[in-house]
Amino acid sequence: MEVGTDMGEKQKYIFVTGGVLSGVGKGITAASIGAILQAKGSKVSIQKCDPYLNVDAGLLNPREHGECFVTKDGAETDLDLGHYERFLDIELTQKSTTLSGRLLSQLIADERAGKFNGQTVQLVPHLTNAIKQAIVDAGEGSDVHIVEIGGTVGDYEGLSFVEAIRDFAGQVGRENCLYVHVVYAPFIETSKEFKSKPAQNALHELRGFGITPDCVVVRTEAPAPHAIAEKIGRFGGVREGGVVLLPNAKTVYEIPLTIYASGIGPVLDEFIGNSEKPDLKKWKQLAKAQQASYAKKVTVGLVAKYLDNEDTYLSVLEALRAAAWQEKVELNIAWLDAEKSSEKEFSGVDALLVPGGFGARGVEGKVAAATYALQNNVPYLGICLGMQVAVIAAARLGGLKGANSTEFDAKTKHDVVYIMDGQAGKESTGGTLRLGDYQATLKKGSKTAQLYGVQNITERHRHRYEVNRQFISEVEAGGLTVSGTSPDGELVEFVEAKNHPYFVATQAHPEFKSRPDRAHPLFVGLMRAIGDI
Ligand code: GLN
Repeated sequence: MEVGTDMGEKQKYIFVTGGVLSGVGKGITAASIGAILQAKGSKVSIQKCDPYLNVDAGLLNPREHGECFVTKDGAETDLDLGHYERFLDIELTQKSTTLSGRLLSQLIADERAGKFNGQTVQLVPHLTNAIKQAIVDAGEGSDVHIVEIGGTVGDYEGLSFVEAIRDFAGQVGRENCLYVHVVYAPFIETSKEFKSKPAQNALHELRGFGITPDCVVVRTEAPAPHAIAEKIGRFGGVREGGVVLLPNAKTVYEIPLTIYASGIGPVLDEFIGNSEKPDLKKWKQLAKAQQASYAKKVTVGLVAKYLDNEDTYLSVLEALRAAAWQEKVELNIAWLDAEKSSEKEFSGVDALLVPGGFGARGVEGKVAAATYALQNNVPYLGICLGMQVAVIAAARLGGLKGANSTEFDAKTKHDVVYIMDGQAGKESTGGTLRLGDYQATLKKGSKTAQLYGVQNITERHRHRYEVNRQFISEVEAGGLTVSGTSPDGELVEFVEAKNHPYFVATQAHPEFKSRPDRAHPLFVGLMRAIGDI
């Protein structure tokens, strides 16, 4: 479907932009609005537009940007897509992530291919048209399509996106577009007051681009007086009731509730023409589960390389939390530095988890964690690199002293993990990993098959290296068995330890399919194993 043609009568669009500063919860706000609309019976789709010039998030430094989330069709995306999937319980695709770099490279390729018939190719209208088309494509088939624009309005690189969403209303009708601006009101300690000025300036700037928002979400660190909303509304040209206050919540899954309670309900009712109350039972239950205190406390040691940014392992942490709520245990995460951790630290936790990762730094610490877990009956969950280090650990225990992955030791004689066919030479290039959904067949009677409850499963992937089957007998001698392979039996997808309370590892990334109210079986298995010990 093309922008401006028959775009469907009922289709509605919600644009979520940010002002003042980024990182105040625009993604969670967008996802929460989607959750409220779903709870009113709407079919919701969602998309993140990121103005930076990368083609995808695959090569971004996770320390700076947080985790790289992977969709079922292999898009390497911003972590906000993880929030969207967890909040809306939908599986997103390549269409849900739109970056300037991707659109521009296509535009330039089209120009080279002579597709513009002599026209001057410009940011407006060519890039803005491409943005609008990407929005229409991503929203196709839903009742309400939510579009979050990354960064803050006024950023130099984001201007084409702001112009595109302004212009969009001209084609689909202003009544079919709802503009939500998320701003921040700081609290000044000395005078003990919230300040509305930065928000006013942000709204002024947005209006300068031709957008008067229908709704302003004011983020504050603590509950703020209603007068602040009135002031922002009056000076910002936003109608009464359109400004809602959103103080920090105790847990993110409370936000659909707080945002609904903040008074956004009537704005959404009017926009979609449905005043039915949303059924927010699921969110109430989740908020309750998160805040309950449980007698049983478990400490999971996360053997990690990036210790200063929780976002780097966001989906893994969310998957652990979901499993803990489901199993009614209080979860404590111990961050173990992969470069420094020792047996003493490993012995101080109830379970070890080695998440995905790239590069040699800290890898020996991860192998040590897997070795410790194998030898001391400590529950272990290995994810992607976490499976590769488990295989290395077992191969070494099984007699191959120098066993390694060629990712970390290119010259190792015992390359128990090696580069896949067709991957050599592509290291550190973008979009070339084994990405997205792949099926696996689980071994009958294995712990892994028991956990999943079925033998044929699908999980998302993001890796370049594979287990080398040539050394399987040594890996087995070290205590691991292969519990799942690709359907053709070629690639090792799961391993587990024999005679061990819980040692399960996978080449895939199960954390991406965990949901807050439907924990992933491998994470549930870990919690149960800790409970049983
Ligand atoms: N670095 C490993 C590989 O490329 C593991 C990747 C990961 O953990 N996501 O195969």
